[in-house]
Amino acid sequence: MTKRNRLSAQEYIDGVLSGDRVILSRTITLIESELSEDIALADQVLEGTLPHAGNAIRIGITGVPGVGKSTFIEALGKLITHSSKKLAVLTIDPTSQRSGGSILGDKTRMETLARDPLAYIRPSATGSTLGGVANKTREAMLLCEAAGYEVIFVETVGVGQSEVTVKGMVDFFLLLVLAGAGDELQGIKKGIMEMANAIAITKTDGENVKAAYEAKAQYQSALHLFPPSESGWIPPVMTCSAYDGTGIEDIWSLIMKFKNQMTENGSFTRRREEQNIHWMHDSVLDILKSRFYKNETVNTSLSDLEKQVSEGMLSPVSAARKLYGLYRE
Ligand code: GDP
Repeated sequence: MTKRNRLSAQEYIDGVLSGDRVILSRTITLIESELSEDIALADQVLEGTLPHAGNAIRIGITGVPGVGKSTFIEALGKLITHSSKKLAVLTIDPTSQRSGGSILGDKTRMETLARDPLAYIRPSATGSTLGGVANKTREAMLLCEAAGYEVIFVETVGVGQSEVTVKGMVDFFLLLVLAGAGDELQGIKKGIMEMANAIAITKTDGENVKAAYEAKAQYQSALHLFPPSESGWIPPVMTCSAYDGTGIEDIWSLIMKFKNQMTENGSFTRRREEQNIHWMHDSVLDILKSRFYKNETVNTSLSDLEKQVSEGMLSPVSAARKLYGLYRE
């Protein structure tokens, strides 16, 4: 961001708190910036907005490409904005780090929601690590909350690593799955199923209906094998169709039921507190890592040591110790 374009910290804060979408977008761009001047300013803005954040229900949505995430988000999103609630949709796309495009970013997605004045859609931050992208997304989430968004969706593409990250920042984690030809449970990692607060089988319409109900039974029996969660919540398996709207309202009621139940038994707040502590530790690692690799001495020796390691001349651990030694000098 060039200096000319920067606002003062107070202008960003006031803009966000008044729900100004243009300023909200500019503030998210500011917090995504790696420039040291921006980082200091972004910290001030976050400090100023933080007391107004935290009031939304945070919902993570995951599923493999093609499962119907964006269509589902449009359908559920419409239901939410029709009830006059403000919805923000954020995305974590681990593939956005790589050159050559991303899975989620290329096509125009959620066109109807994008035009809805009560909805705010922000594509994935880019960054060199998933942790970096996740941190930016968390901060973007807080800014959206401060701007008055009452429901936050954090969408991620189901390719493995990013689910844990999203689970760590949301209250409710929804796994979308497809009914297939008898191979329902294949290809979905046990760990991801275990993280889900609910599983929804998408595209339960037309000739898919029978397969969807079969899949539902299979997922239900698979979920029974997991130990019950500490919060006492038993993850249900739902069916839905974003095309004809079947089950979409049920999923929303389920999320509300979850929120009420978890608030009553104290799990809601407890989880958020734990998440914040984790977030702090993650951020420490992020800061250290970025300092380490930006260090000039480390940088000068890095490729040489990498070469020695790849040729088997030096053990990876010894190389790491050497680098750390250089860093400390
Ligand atoms: P994403 O990659 O997970 O975001 O999936 P999309 O939302 O882009 O959907 C992938 C494909 O599935 C598209 O061709 C959609 O039209 C189709 N699709 C999405 N939702 C439904 C649904 O409820 N029923 C049916 N039959 N098809 C759907």
